[in-house]
Amino acid sequence: MLRFERYVCPDTPQEAYDLLRSDKAAVVIGGMMWLRLADRTVPLGIDLSRCGLDRIEETEEGFRIGAMVTLGQLERHEGLADATGGILSEAVRDIVGTQFRNLATVGGSLWSRMGFSDVTCALLALDTEVELVGAGRVPIIPFVERGAGRDVLTHVIVRRHAYRAAYSCVRAAATDFSSISAAAACWRGSWHVAVGSRPQKATLVTGGERIPLRERFSTTELDAALDAVSNLAFGSDLRGSAEWRREVAPVLVRRAIEAASAKEA
Ligand SMILES: Cc1cc2nc3c(=O)[nH]c(=O)nc-3n(C[C@H](O)[C@H](O)[C@H](O)COP(=O)(O)OP(=O)(O)OC[C@H]3O[C@@H](n4cnc5c(N)ncnc54)[C@H](O)[C@@H]3O)c2cc1C
Repeated sequence: MLRFERYVCPDTPQEAYDLLRSDKAAVVIGGMMWLRLADRTVPLGIDLSRCGLDRIEETEEGFRIGAMVTLGQLERHEGLADATGGILSEAVRDIVGTQFRNLATVGGSLWSRMGFSDVTCALLALDTEVELVGAGRVPIIPFVERGAGRDVLTHVIVRRHAYRAAYSCVRAAATDFSSISAAAACWRGSWHVAVGSRPQKATLVTGGERIPLRERFSTTELDAALDAVSNLAFGSDLRGSAEWRREVAPVLVRRAIEAASAKEA
């Protein structure tokens, strides 16, 4: 069972950050769905639920998603779905069940940077930044690759583009983690493809500073991108062998690109 010696509910992210910095063993509390699995006593638990981070705001730049927004809110937000080809709804809708998704948060999902995270994989394919109290704004790729120190994640920014995007994954059973996943999003004239549940952390394969895949790609260009997917580092665990993942990942990527291509921008 998880126990807290002291439990605080600050009113602002800055207060939460100051408390986090005051005690090396303090932990930030998101939806607590992952944290509660631990059997330990934590000296200080910092609950973000009063920090005003539970909203999805539409701004000129795009969408500003509070860290305490639940996966359920992410799944159901019509404006966000319309603007992003529905990729975020597709990514989260099979995570455990409705009650679970109404508690687990976007901040907790991104912060943990777990290999099976559908949320991370989908956000990698979009033009995303994270906002932290200490470090400020950071593009999602370095954040996923390197994480952040002892910081408080406050928002996820998804910039506005004419996205066509789709998510595809394989689960051995309906409520299990993805065994392999792929997200594809076309924006600013090129495809951004991410692969997750390798079982290592999700990674971007095409787009940005990775290999290019033009919006109107040739068969050769698509084959090169699918080759790059096959050449990713894959590992084995109880959900699949590295060889199986290497075979299935390019198929999922192709399907995600086809599904996204069939959508209107
Ligand atoms: C049984 C089970 C099945 C799951 N299946 C899936 C799945 O199929 N796909 C998927 O994508 N995910 C899955 N998840 C993960 C889940 O969706 C959440 O990502 C996870 O529970 C963490 O979110 P949380 O809000 O519960 O965070 P918490 O448990 O509260 O926190 C997790 C970690 O993040 C830190 N943290 C939380 N919020 C912040 C913040 N704002 N700033 C800084 N640090 C923060 C905490 O200190 C802690 O270290 C599963 C989880 C469980 C328990």
